[in-house]
Amino acid sequence: MNHRMLSGITPSGSLTLGNYLGALKRFADAGHDTDGTFFVADLHALTIAHEPARLRRLTRETALLFLASGIDPDRSTAFVQSHVPEHVALAYLLECTAYVGELGRMVQFKEKGGRPRTRASLFTYPCLMAADILLYETDAVPVGGDQDQHVELARDLAVRFNRTYGETFVVPALSRPAIAARVADLADPTSKMDKSALEGASGVVRMLDSPDVVRRKVMRAVTDSDSEVSYDPHTKPGVSNLLEILASCGGVGSPAVLASRYDSYGALKQDVADAVIGALAPVQARYAALEAEPGHVDEVLAAGARRARERAAPVLDRARAAIGLSEPAS
Ligand code: ATP
Ligand code: MG
Repeated sequence: MNHRMLSGITPSGSLTLGNYLGALKRFADAGHDTDGTFFVADLHALTIAHEPARLRRLTRETALLFLASGIDPDRSTAFVQSHVPEHVALAYLLECTAYVGELGRMVQFKEKGGRPRTRASLFTYPCLMAADILLYETDAVPVGGDQDQHVELARDLAVRFNRTYGETFVVPALSRPAIAARVADLADPTSKMDKSALEGASGVVRMLDSPDVVRRKVMRAVTDSDSEVSYDPHTKPGVSNLLEILASCGGVGSPAVLASRYDSYGALKQDVADAVIGALAPVQARYAALEAEPGHVDEVLAAGARRARERAAPVLDRARAAIGLSEPAS
């Protein structure tokens, strides 16, 4: 049976080395038996204050980076979320299934919901996320720990809807990826590298950073107070992060084995910089080629949206009928 993989990336900042190693590269490396659905989650970028022009630019950049990373549009479905109106339509039906109490318990809302000018969508977006999942009848959703609550909610809503209105949705299971690559911020190695960090953040390597910028960021990475190169994520998070990056960017051997080859941080950082630059170079070259062919990218994204709609529309139709909505006469 084909293995289904679904993932969305919110265009909340320029994509990072973490997004590449933890997500895009995995999508691209997934085997031929994987049926991948990958989307730029532009609607999810609207839950907090945003700039329209920046959103449009980042949506395009993110879509191009999907393709530049090697996601094959003939084998996978790659599209922009808002090009597939079924997402919003199903999200509303799920808002009519969810309870205020359970949405109020979502971590994002608990953390940011008390501020003035909180958008209503920061409260309801978990229903949109449930729609993102349920529309593609994904049996297993591989997510890192920070997403558990969202998948749990999607499961709860699917079960409740099925019980109330009859079997409509496939109930997704939570699956843990075997190795959850987590790239840390080079300037603060106990935190994750996040694309929504400030644009110039010195510890965040962006996929489109020039080789000079990558080298500068890596050479300035925070290491640890002693000078021994060894792999221990708990006591030496900075050096361990560099070793993990090296291992993920083509270094031969595990992070611990790689550690034994270095006796100074400087030499390790030089090699990490070279490895990251080398890993990003082909992606950046493909990005430049795609940028020069905007019409081709438009076609690929339009075809992806059409394919996504073919999958999503019957699921939405089932849900509409089950909940009691009528169809216009044709
Ligand atoms: P944001 O700051 O907007 O949350 P993010 O960089 O955390 O941005 P997400 O949109 O939350 O990115 O996640 C997109 C994908 O990238 C997910 O599959 C997530 O697991 C992966 N990812 C994000 N950051 C890292 C990281 N530092 N290391 C490994 N994988 C990551
Ligand atoms: Mg995140």
